[in-house]
Formats: sequence, C-alpha cells, structure tokens
Amino acid sequence: MATIYHDEDADLGALRGERIAVIGYGNQGRSQALNLRDSGLEVVVGNIGDAARERAAAEGFRASDIGAAVGDAQVVMLLIPDEVMPDVYTRDVAPALADGAALSFASGYNVAFGYVAPKPTVDVLLLAPRMIGPGVRDTYVDGRGFPSFVGVHQDASGRARARLLALAKGVGSTRAGCLEMSMADEAALDLFTEQGFGPAFGAVLTSAIEAMIEAGYPPEAVLMELYMSGELAYTAQHFVDTGIINQMDFHSRTSQYGSMTRGWRFADIDFKSRMRQALDEIRSGTFAAEWQDEQRAGAPRFEQLRALRQFHPLNEWEAATRSAFRMTRKPGR
Ligand code: NDP
Repeated sequence: MATIYHDEDADLGALRGERIAVIGYGNQGRSQALNLRDSGLEVVVGNIGDAARERAAAEGFRASDIGAAVGDAQVVMLLIPDEVMPDVYTRDVAPALADGAALSFASGYNVAFGYVAPKPTVDVLLLAPRMIGPGVRDTYVDGRGFPSFVGVHQDASGRARARLLALAKGVGSTRAGCLEMSMADEAALDLFTEQGFGPAFGAVLTSAIEAMIEAGYPPEAVLMELYMSGELAYTAQHFVDTGIINQMDFHSRTSQYGSMTRGWRFADIDFKSRMRQALDEIRSGTFAAEWQDEQRAGAPRFEQLRALRQFHPLNEWEAATRSAFRMTRKPGR
C-alpha cells in the first residue's frame, strides 16, 4: 500500500530558520518560489541569466547568481532543465553547498541514472509535482494544491523527511496528497508516460484522423469531431472526477452500445509488449545513455526529428480548422 502524505503529516516548522534557494525561475521555479513565500517560508532565487533574475527581483525576491544563492541557503531546490543539471550541479551548486543542507529535485532522472551524484553530507529529496508550472501556482492560489511524488533519497541530517514534508506543504502539494516513491520509480513512471502511453495514444489519434480523411471527410470536420471541440479534454476531466467507466453514462445509449460492442476489435492489438519494451529500455538505463550520447553530439537527431514534425499535414489541418471556427492559436514556447 502506497504511503500518501497530507497536510496533517507535515509541519512547516521543520524549516524554521532555514533559507530556501530556488534555483531556476522558469515553469516550476517561479510557481514554487511564490507558493513557498506565500506559505511564510524564506525564499531566495538563484538564476543563470539576467532576464529571469530580474523578473524574480521585480517580484520581490532577493535574486543572485546560482553559487551565491546556494551558499546563502540551507535548502536548495534545483528547478532547472534536467539536461543542464549535471553541469550546473558540478560547476555552481556542489562547491557552494554546505554540509547538512538539503538538496531537492523535481524529477528523479539525474540522480536515478547517476548523472548527478550529490555528496553524502547533504539530504537528497524528491519533490516531483504531477502538474505543469502554471498549474502549481494556480492550484495553490485557488486552494486545491496539486499531487506530487516525494521521497527521501539520502538522509544526512536525520531530519530529511520532516524537511521534505515541510517543503511539500509549502508549495501546496500536501493539500492534494504526496505519494512516497524512489527517484528511480519516479523517473521510470515519468519516462514511461512520455515513451509508452503518449506515443501510443498519439498513434491511435493520428490513425483515426487519417482513416477518416482518407474516407473523404473534411479535415475540419474530423479534427473538430475527434479533439478540437474540446469535448475530449472535457471528457478526460470526467475520467478523473467521475471515473472512466462511470462517465460512460454521460454518453447516449447509442454511443455506449456502439463502443461496448465494437471495443473488442481493438482488444487483441498487442500494445502491452511494446509498452514493456519501452519500460525495459527506461529501467535498464538504455534510453538515458542514448539521450546522453545524443546531447553530447549536439543533438543532431533530436533537431532533425523536430524539423521533420513541422511537415506533418496535421499542422495544416489544424490551421484550417482554427480558421474555419475562428479559433485563436495560443503561442507555444
Ligand atoms: P524550465 O525549462 O522552465 O527552466 C527554466 C529555468 O532554468 C530558467 O530559470 C533558466 O534560466 C534556467 N536555465 C536554463 N538553462 C540553464 C543553464 N544552462 N544553466 C542554469 N540555468 C538554466 O524548467 P522546468 O521548470 O520545466 O523544469 C524544472 C524541473 O522541474 C526539472 O527537473 C523538471 O523535470 C521538473 N518538472 C517539470 C515539470 C513541468 O511541467 N515543466 C513538471 C514536474 C517536474 P534563464 O531563463 O536565465 O535561461
């Protein structure tokens, strides 16, 4: 049975007298820094570039370069991209990190696969939100909070768990629940969603789109029917709130009969063996090693694949649908 921590299990007092350095002021960093401060904790920000540092300062934080912020704190939260973390840790964080400090990660990836090996004299914590950065702030402000996976990887101070739970409460996560797990399990679950479930779901969706367009239906109609109306996203929220099976009662009897009688046609497609293959690659470290090599080589395959995806006709079909329905496209990054 999984251990799940809630508000009553955590005491902000465990961080009394300790300064928290939030390193990185991006998606997670900004939201978590604001939440921790609103919870009454003392927060400083460390950042590499000027723009985010100035934003942090404009939003009322003492902001400095990374080494200075780490040296000034007893708790350090590394909220920068996983790809840059090993270098930043070695160059800027480790030399300034005091014995007895706590070092917290929002993803198990680097520690689990050995790319960051924190020294034995610090607490090593996992506080991994199951929520994108803006949602970390929005759900704190509206009082709901967001779930996280949490764990103590190394307890040098003897109070690592108390510090972890206080941090989790400070960012607003114990309101929704924090499930205990190891760095390795968090990394495997996260990567599996990206490499097993996500691509399989994408393949099902694009197969459906192509089958219907090839059958002569206009792309605008097909995309609107399948996902662009927002009905899919709305229904997915009901998976959460009502349950995947129970929400079926919201659909017509014709819909229910059709999907229950035809569902078996897809039951013998062997998704699971490919999913297990993805999981094996993740757990063995094969994926992490491949990605490490790719980045060392300057990410040529990554850039090639990114360039290629722009040629998928889906971009045009979506543009046509948006224009036909007078929808505005929200900018990406
Ligand atoms: P972001 O991409 O938003 O991080 C941007 C921040 O990192 C900026 O402050 C940026 O500084 C800084 N940064 C970028 N490159 C460097 C570098 N080379 N050296 C030092 N600092 C750098 O990251 P996220 O918030 O998305 O991710 C942070 C952590 O949270 C990761 O471990 C991630 O796995 C985890 N996580 C992320 C989730 C998400 O939804 N995004 C969800 C759950 C966990 P500047 O602007 O000055 O360049």
